[in-house]
Amino acid sequence: MHDVEALFEDMRGAIPAGPVKIKEAADSGKKVVGCYCAYTPFEVIRAAGAVPVSLCSTSDKPIAAGEEHLPRNLCPLIKSSYGFALTDTCPYFHFCDLVIGETTCDGKKKMYELLDRLRPTHVMQLPQTYFGADALNVWRAEIERLARRLEAELGVTITEDGLRREIKKRNEERRVMQDFYELSKPDPPLLSGRELHLVNEFFKVSFGDARAMDTIRELETKLRENWEAGERRVPAGRRRIVVTGCPTGKSLEKVFDAIEENGGVIVAFENCGGLKPNYEPADETLPPYEALAVKYLGIPCSCMSPNTKRLDLLETLAGEYKADGVVDIILQACHTYSVESFLVRERLTGGKRSVPYIPVETDYSQSDTEQLSTRMGAFMEMIA
Ligand code: SF4
Ligand code: SF4
Repeated sequence: MHDVEALFEDMRGAIPAGPVKIKEAADSGKKVVGCYCAYTPFEVIRAAGAVPVSLCSTSDKPIAAGEEHLPRNLCPLIKSSYGFALTDTCPYFHFCDLVIGETTCDGKKKMYELLDRLRPTHVMQLPQTYFGADALNVWRAEIERLARRLEAELGVTITEDGLRREIKKRNEERRVMQDFYELSKPDPPLLSGRELHLVNEFFKVSFGDARAMDTIRELETKLRENWEAGERRVPAGRRRIVVTGCPTGKSLEKVFDAIEENGGVIVAFENCGGLKPNYEPADETLPPYEALAVKYLGIPCSCMSPNTKRLDLLETLAGEYKADGVVDIILQACHTYSVESFLVRERLTGGKRSVPYIPVETDYSQSDTEQLSTRMGAFMEMIA
């Protein structure tokens, strides 16, 4: 059995090695499909025999290039993702045969129109509500339309059996992650938020490889054994923080550091790339397109109106993970998360168990690192 540090080290090494895996897959004849959002049903892409890769970018570097076509006053995630595509500097985008987008926020859906000039881009028309049979029917039809596009583009046939197999497999992956997240429930948690984030990032580059899931399981077992033997990786008395808001990644680790270097410990990431997309499995008893429509339409993103499921989920997570506070990461110019911040604060601080809340507006530059540290330090003191 590997020890914990060796497993973390393996995971750290796997992240920069991700593009090599995709190159090998492409060289061996596999088709690669790029995705920008948690709404993309990976199961359909896998049932088409292709590899779905996540393209959401969190680097500052390609933003200037992105701004040549896009307005400056736009969310950095969109500018960064587009800038990478435009300059052909994202190795994942480079190998994509097809890219999938969804009509989520305005900036993203308009960017996809430009992206289509660089790589064939299929845009799924996402309803803006998860309530009602009409929205569900539209979304199921959109998933079926995606399947037809994949079949035409990749020259394959997607069968119901193939979809059922991939739903089962993806659910198992979600279960592995859900079980792993349980490690943050004890006080103190069995690992830090930075370590938890590393596992989330490792999961993203697992590309459906069962061995990667075994590594996560092995790490979970080892952390539990060490905990039972008395090891505490996180000192007692840290303020327990749930992180929510816009998708996170490398450039936003500055927020995690500001929390964890000032007396806090992140016990859950509610946002995409964390708990939100893995919280509910797809219902394996339903016909496959129905199961996928219910599962993916139910993701509580701020582009939904109203988005009460996010408020419910946050309240539940704050209880389950015994949160002392919630930090809401809002990317500059992200209107949906920014406006929703009022309702999040109202729900968290107005309930029976009031949970302190702080919104943090930032971008991918590192120029506000000190300011973030000061703000998080003050927040931790306030909730101590
Ligand atoms: S926050 Fe919304 S738009 Fe962004 S990746 Fe998640 S589901 Fe998609
Ligand atoms: S962070 Fe906000 S503005 Fe940026 S892509 Fe996501 S929903 Fe859109």
